[in-house]
Amino acid sequence: MNILLIGSGGRENAFAWKIKQSEKCEKLWIAPGNAGSSAFGENISIGVNDFEGIKNFCLQNKVDLLVVGPEEPLVRGLKDYMAQIPEVAGIPIVGPGESGARLEGSKDFSKNFMMAHGIPTASYATFTSASLQEGVDYLKKQNLPIVLKADGLAAGKGVLICSSYEEAESCLKDMLIGQKFGDASTRVVIETFLTGIELSVFVATDGENYKILPEAKDYKRIGEGDTGPNTGGMGAISPVPFADKAFMEKVEERVVKPTISGLKKDGIDFRGFLFIGLMNMEGEPYVIEYNVRMGDPETQAVLPRIKSDFLELLNATANKTLIDYKLEIAPTKTATVVMVAGGYPEAYEKGKAISGLEETNIKQAITFHAGTKLDSADQVVTNGGRVLGITGLGDSVEKAIENAYLRVSEITWEKANYRKDIGQDILKLGN
Ligand code: ATP
Repeated sequence: MNILLIGSGGRENAFAWKIKQSEKCEKLWIAPGNAGSSAFGENISIGVNDFEGIKNFCLQNKVDLLVVGPEEPLVRGLKDYMAQIPEVAGIPIVGPGESGARLEGSKDFSKNFMMAHGIPTASYATFTSASLQEGVDYLKKQNLPIVLKADGLAAGKGVLICSSYEEAESCLKDMLIGQKFGDASTRVVIETFLTGIELSVFVATDGENYKILPEAKDYKRIGEGDTGPNTGGMGAISPVPFADKAFMEKVEERVVKPTISGLKKDGIDFRGFLFIGLMNMEGEPYVIEYNVRMGDPETQAVLPRIKSDFLELLNATANKTLIDYKLEIAPTKTATVVMVAGGYPEAYEKGKAISGLEETNIKQAITFHAGTKLDSADQVVTNGGRVLGITGLGDSVEKAIENAYLRVSEITWEKANYRKDIGQDILKLGN
C-alpha cells in the first residue's frame, strides 16, 4: 500500500515510524516531514495547506491512503476539496471533512453538539460583539473562576481562565471588540470552570464503529510543577493510572458512544481520530474539548503501546471496516519528554546543530523528531520550538521516565530546554 502522510511534527514522525513497521507499507511519503521522517519514508516539499499540491501529487503517484496529521487542513476542508475532484475523490482519507472538523474548529459548534447529544460538559453560553452587554451580564451571574474561550482555532492559546469579574469583563471585551485572537474570537464561549484531573482519550472511528486507543496525560506548561505559559505540549505519559476500568467505562458509555452516534444522527461521516480532552471530576468524566486528530506529543506516547498493525487501523478507519480490526495494546508504559528550543514558547532561534542523535545504548527509548531539518551540510539542526520528543518505555512508569531522561541526557544543542518533572505527579499518585 502507498501512503501519503500530511504533517511535519512529532505526531507525524511517530505515525511514519509506526506505519513503516507494517508489512503492508510499500511506499510512504511525508508532506513535508522533518529530518527524522526521512528515515521511514520520502519527504516531499508540499505544505500541509497546499491542497492543490497534495491533489497533484496524488494524481501523479498511486496513493492508496491519505493520512492527515494536523487539524488545520481538516478544518480548512481538505477532504471536501479532494471529494470534488473525480480523479482523486476515491482515495480513502484518515481525517474528517469540514463538517466533522468543526468539532475542533468551533467551540460553539462542539458545545452545541454536546448539549444536543447529552454528553457531559461544563455549562456555557456564546456571545458576539453584538451581544457583548448580555455577555457581561451573564458573566456577573457566574461563579469564579470563569473560563473564556475563543470560538475558532487559536493554536492552543485561545482559552483564558479569569479569577475576577473585572478581569473577565476586560478579557471578553479584548476578545470580542479588540479581536485579541483575530477572527477566532469573533464569537466567545463563556464556560463554567471545572475542577479535577485532566486526561486525553483517543478514539479511531470510521463513523460507525470505533476503537479506543491508550489514553494519555499531557504536560502543557513550559515550567516544572505546571508553571509558566502554555505550550504545544512538553511531555506525555501513558497509561494514566486514574483512568481505571470503571472510569473508562463511564467515558465509553457517556462520551464515546453518544459522540459517534451523534455524528451519525447529524449526518456527519466522520472517519478519523477523535481526541477527547476530559476532566475527571471526582470520578465523573466531563468533556473539555474535542480535537479531530491525534494529539502531539500524546501520539508519541500512545503509538509505541499499540501492538497491532497501525497501518491496518488507519486503512480500516478510512474504509469503514474497523469492525474487523483487532486492536492490541501492549502492557508497556511510556513517558515522552519534549525537548524545546530555549525561549520557547516565546521567541526562539532556529538552525542550532543537534548532537547526540546517532548511536545509543539506551534501547528502551525512541527519538521522535518534530522541529528539525537537515542543513546544507546534512547536519540535523533545530527548525521549530518543539524540536524532539523522546519516548521512554518500561514495565513501570518509573522505568519509562528513567529511560526517557537517560536518552534526553545524551542529546543537546545550544540553549536546549526540557521539563525535568514529566510523570512525577503520576508517581506521587502511587503508580
Ligand atoms: P488545545 O487545543 O491546545 O488543547 P484549546 O485552545 O483547544 O487547547 P481547550 O482544550 O478547550 O482549548 O482548553 C485549554 C485548557 O484550558 C484545557 O486543557 C484546560 O486545562 C483548561 N480548561 C478549558 N476549559 C476548562 C474548564 N471548563 N474548566 C477548567 N479548565 C478548563
